[in-house]
Amino acid sequence: MEKTRKHSRKRDAILACLQHTITHPTAEWIYSRLKPDIPDLSLATVYRNLAMFRQEGVIRSLGTVDGQERFDFNTSPHAHFICRSCHRIFDIPQPLLSEEMLQNACIGQIDSCDVSITGVCNNCNPHS
Ligand SMILES: [Zn+2]
Ligand SMILES: [Zn+2]
Repeated sequence: MEKTRKHSRKRDAILACLQHTITHPTAEWIYSRLKPDIPDLSLATVYRNLAMFRQEGVIRSLGTVDGQERFDFNTSPHAHFICRSCHRIFDIPQPLLSEEMLQNACIGQIDSCDVSITGVCNNCNPHS
């Protein structure tokens, strides 16, 4: 299946772009990053590939922040801090909820767990 797909170069570039950033980018951010190297890249292609990666479980979507969907290459469980001022998304590597806590609190099997905290980051609020 992973032979010479027609769009594999673009696909690889989009994936590599996600892999090498911790900014939890938008489709448009990826597009503007790659466009200089891949002149025939379209925003629709970026969206299509992101949707595919998401379906395959390669990346995850963090939902919409400030009107734009954000993506994360890191699919392992971790929480996020979303700054409502600069809209940056920071990883919180330490799981805030242990698997055991979740299992005890839930009445079924867990497929995914998204913890996101909204606030103002230290860059935006240096006096805190
Ligand atoms: Zn901020
Ligand atoms: Zn993340």
